[in-house]
Amino acid sequence: MILENIEVVRENIKAACERSNRNVEDVTLIAVSKTKPYTDIEEALKSGIRDYGENKVQELSEKYEILPKDIKWHMIGHLQRNKVKYLPNKAYLIHSVDSIRLANQIEKEFAKAGDVAKILIEVNVAGEESKFGVKVDEVLPLIEEISKLEHVLVMGLMTIAPYTDNPESNRTYFRQLKQLSVDIESKNIDNISMTVLSMGMTGDYQVAIEEGATHVRVGTGIFGERNYNI
Ligand SMILES: *Cc1c(COP(=O)(O)O)cnc(C)c1O
Repeated sequence: MILENIEVVRENIKAACERSNRNVEDVTLIAVSKTKPYTDIEEALKSGIRDYGENKVQELSEKYEILPKDIKWHMIGHLQRNKVKYLPNKAYLIHSVDSIRLANQIEKEFAKAGDVAKILIEVNVAGEESKFGVKVDEVLPLIEEISKLEHVLVMGLMTIAPYTDNPESNRTYFRQLKQLSVDIESKNIDNISMTVLSMGMTGDYQVAIEEGATHVRVGTGIFGERNYNI
């Protein structure tokens, strides 16, 4: 089932790229494997997908140990400062940085390990109370602070759009995140690039691609529903 699902997702990505005149090579599919057994990832690896997303540091670390070392592990979930020490030399990209305190902790632990962290700033574009992420007008000041850190490299922005049955209703948030990345890019801040735009999940990744996503995070659409009760 997993390989068939990946085929469908890839077809959808291709169609969204065609609709928006984008190259399919410019969109990376991250398979969100959280809560799923490593055998599911072994299955997905047969499709050639090398990017996997996890939202818990411990689960990411365990899967890192078991699975092939050329996998790019994306830390997409809320990150507690006391867990950062497990990420150097394991996490390929941290999508969920939303405070200077967290960035400082990443600086400290990655410096200690002789690694440089690639990170995204998580933006709460829709301003939902329940969500992590910084408000749109707080992103630039945060990035200016982080640009001083030697072991933290800002690669772009990430957002989790509201849960909805109608992906069109999230288009406005994806567009706002893209615009924000263009605005920040134009400021040419040291150490800061805006090449990554991580947005779009199973319900809305096609709309996100039409609005400029470079990385989409698809879980359910590849591995099926998650069961949190096991
Ligand atoms: C779980 C998760 C996803 C994947 O969600 P699906 O709806 O299953 O595709 C994407 N991004 C983040 C941050 C997640 O936590």
